[in-house]
Amino acid sequence: MAKDIACKLLVVGAGPGGYVCAIRAGQLGVDTIIVEAEALGGTCLNVGCIPSKALIHVADEFERAMNSADKAAIGVSASKPKIDLAKTVEWKNGIVGRLTGGVGALLKKAKVRVVEGWATFIDGKTIEVETKDGPTTIRAENVVIATGSTPVELPFLKFGGDVISSTEALDLDAPPKNLVVVGAGYIGLELGIAFAKFGSKVAVVEALDRILPGYDAELTRPVTKRLKALGVAVHLGAKAKGPGKDGKSLEIENGDGETETLPADKILVAVGRKPLTEGWGRENLVLDMDGPFIKIDDRCQTSMNGVYAIGDVAGEPMLAHRAMAQGEMVAEIIAGRNRRWDRRAVPAVCFTDPEVVAVGLAPEEAKAEGHEVESALFPFSANGRAMATEAEEGFVRVTARAGDGLILGAHAVGKGVAELSAAFALALEMGATLEDIAGTIHAHPTQSEAFHEASLRTLGHALHI
Ligand code: FAD
Ligand code: NAD
Repeated sequence: MAKDIACKLLVVGAGPGGYVCAIRAGQLGVDTIIVEAEALGGTCLNVGCIPSKALIHVADEFERAMNSADKAAIGVSASKPKIDLAKTVEWKNGIVGRLTGGVGALLKKAKVRVVEGWATFIDGKTIEVETKDGPTTIRAENVVIATGSTPVELPFLKFGGDVISSTEALDLDAPPKNLVVVGAGYIGLELGIAFAKFGSKVAVVEALDRILPGYDAELTRPVTKRLKALGVAVHLGAKAKGPGKDGKSLEIENGDGETETLPADKILVAVGRKPLTEGWGRENLVLDMDGPFIKIDDRCQTSMNGVYAIGDVAGEPMLAHRAMAQGEMVAEIIAGRNRRWDRRAVPAVCFTDPEVVAVGLAPEEAKAEGHEVESALFPFSANGRAMATEAEEGFVRVTARAGDGLILGAHAVGKGVAELSAAFALALEMGATLEDIAGTIHAHPTQSEAFHEASLRTLGHALHI
């Protein structure tokens, strides 16, 4: 039976942007409805951040166990382990279930009504949801579009069968013997490295002449070294052409313009994600666009009054923590608070081996923005904790404004450096200078001491190098 309901705030999409927005709005007493067609938690919790990190963790554990057979030098010996990927996926699904169940409980606690089904905008204040019990019309004073993004498909490598996106790659029941990854960005390298550790023979095909193009070359060098050590074949400046005639290979044009055939039991296409701006009635709204994204201002307001957009659908960087921060801000604006987007930096972490962290500007980016910069790095090879944990590859690098030492950027590459992103982001957000970091006592022995030492080194008086 058709239903008609009303609310003050309607959120479309329950990914990290949408569900955080709804929870915060509910906490502030805003009468809120959230609509989700698939599963609470969106891409991030179901088929993105969390499941990929679970798989990466198991790949690391497996590799460690495999290597322990050769660890006589540090006093460890063990027999060869086995991987049961179906069991891993089952465990991963359990983590996802706990988290998505938790989101449901948090929404309930905040008194947010959840409507399951696909939402279509009729106009800027009315949407229709196709629920399992029939159509429901929802009228709202404010709406937030948080529809997220989907994987980009290559016309000559359509998803299906052995051509997979990250979603299917996270649900395989055995590591493919030969895996070809198209795209050496976040997903291609995070998952490519994980499968190489599981024992797949991995080849990566990247159109540009470098891996991880979002990060500078100094930062990605240790990742290149690790790919080589893992036996991953990296084809740079190469183009995927299409599946080979035998159905178990991929034809590529390599960097020298020659055709090569790479054996491929699975082809993981990871060439980016695109904002989900179609299929939900955008044509019934009058939204200005910014390229493929919905255009927003510094309050995430679109060109229509009372219509907001957050997360992947509303621009780069397409990261969960940016979506969440926007969601929280919009909820507060709708509750009557005076908020705007005044963040200095959105941290980025790539969970490759080694991990890569970028917060703020790299030296060349800072120069391009007209700053006179001072920058130095501190290598983990001179850090006691890193030496004691076999994590000597990599470094922390600090970039500061010449003259007053204002920190413009903090970057790191190395084992476990994802956790340094909090210290880096805090430094930038608080407007810290090199002297502030140099004057902060960093616990010994930790890898975070490399942040202290990189700041001291930029000031010209490092202690341990
Ligand atoms: P989404 O999470 O995409 O959620 C949108 C939701 O809206 C979906 O649940 C969808 O079903 C729903 N929806 C869409 N249209 C409708 C409609 N018309 N009606 C009803 N429901 C609708 N980011 C990080 O920061 N760190 C990471 O480590 C990381 N790892 C990733 C790994 C992978 C493999 C992938 C694919 C992504 C990863 N990301 C990571 C990116 C991250 O997942 C996204 O940036 C984030 O999920 C975006 O959140 P969102 O709320 O904008 O959209
Ligand atoms: P990406 O933009 O990170 O990388 C895509 C790569 O594919 C680039 O290197 C690009 O040059 C290459 N490419 C594009 N077209 C190609 C072609 N035809 N042939 C060969 N190479 C081609 O995209 P992704 O890895 O698909 O990830 C999508 C988004 O998801 C990321 O941009 C990021 O926002 C998010 N994500 C984040 C994390 C994280 O935060 N750790 C992890 C995974 C995904």
